[in-house]
Amino acid sequence: MRRIGVDLGGTKIEGVVLGADGEIVARERVSSPSHSYGALLQAVVDLVRGLRLDHKLDGTTPVGIGTPGAWQPSSRTMKNCNSTVLNGQPLFADLRKNLGDHVRMANDADCFALSEAVDGAAESYATVFGVILGTGVGGGLVVNKSLLSGPNAIAGEWGHTPVPYLRHPVGRDVDPAAGLLKRLEDRLCYCGRYNCIETFLSGPGLARTADALLGKPCEPEAVFSDPANAVVRDLYCDLLARSLAQLINVLDPAAVVLGGGLSQQSVLYERVPQVLPRYLFSPDCHTRLLPPTHGDSSGVRGAAWL
Ligand SMILES: [Zn+2]
Repeated sequence: MRRIGVDLGGTKIEGVVLGADGEIVARERVSSPSHSYGALLQAVVDLVRGLRLDHKLDGTTPVGIGTPGAWQPSSRTMKNCNSTVLNGQPLFADLRKNLGDHVRMANDADCFALSEAVDGAAESYATVFGVILGTGVGGGLVVNKSLLSGPNAIAGEWGHTPVPYLRHPVGRDVDPAAGLLKRLEDRLCYCGRYNCIETFLSGPGLARTADALLGKPCEPEAVFSDPANAVVRDLYCDLLARSLAQLINVLDPAAVVLGGGLSQQSVLYERVPQVLPRYLFSPDCHTRLLPPTHGDSSGVRGAAWL
């Protein structure tokens, strides 16, 4: 069976036709109209209709749409989208009105997790948590190749829980990161709460940590490439380990796949598993920490697999 996937991004909208074995049969890109919701909706509808026409697919072909932000079940509208014209709009209902009942929708972190769990880095694992470490921090949970969703539509929103053990000791042993953490101020997140994981593990969060510890601005890439910045790099790995440990305590996934810009740093896959047991309710950690297979294509591939 063929599927259509669409990744609704801030600057471009990408659509693919995915074959039964996950091969990309066709790919189309158009720029995202940012001035109005109506124009953005029409661009998605036109892209899907064009793919259907070109590949002789009818309205029963599954269509998955990956979006920024999140869909609010109580209001049935979008929220927290960086493409701000989407916020407050009934996107899902409008897509179904225009494209039919075979349309599904999920946020981009969920699409990433699904893509890597179905035929990506974690395809041989039954329980997979996908993490985006980019401009923001998001996540999605996939069980037996199906995305887990719940009544609040927030499954996987790990980035908006507080960083564990930030202001109190981890345990009986001396916390080697405690001295450094004392030098970081509390961080107010855009969601209205303090010290969300996103405020430390996103690219901007890492830059802020570098600024505080090094006393000068430092791009996230330079944190990892310059040995002089090792203190910031090691603290980032430690914060990622303590944040993942809480997730693993609750879900015990077989694999965690990292995505987003920061997932390209190979040191994360060596160092974080070494540090993890310090924070875990287990003397050792058998959850695999994996780099992504599909990179930038994960959003559109995961959308198709919805
Ligand atoms: Zn937050």
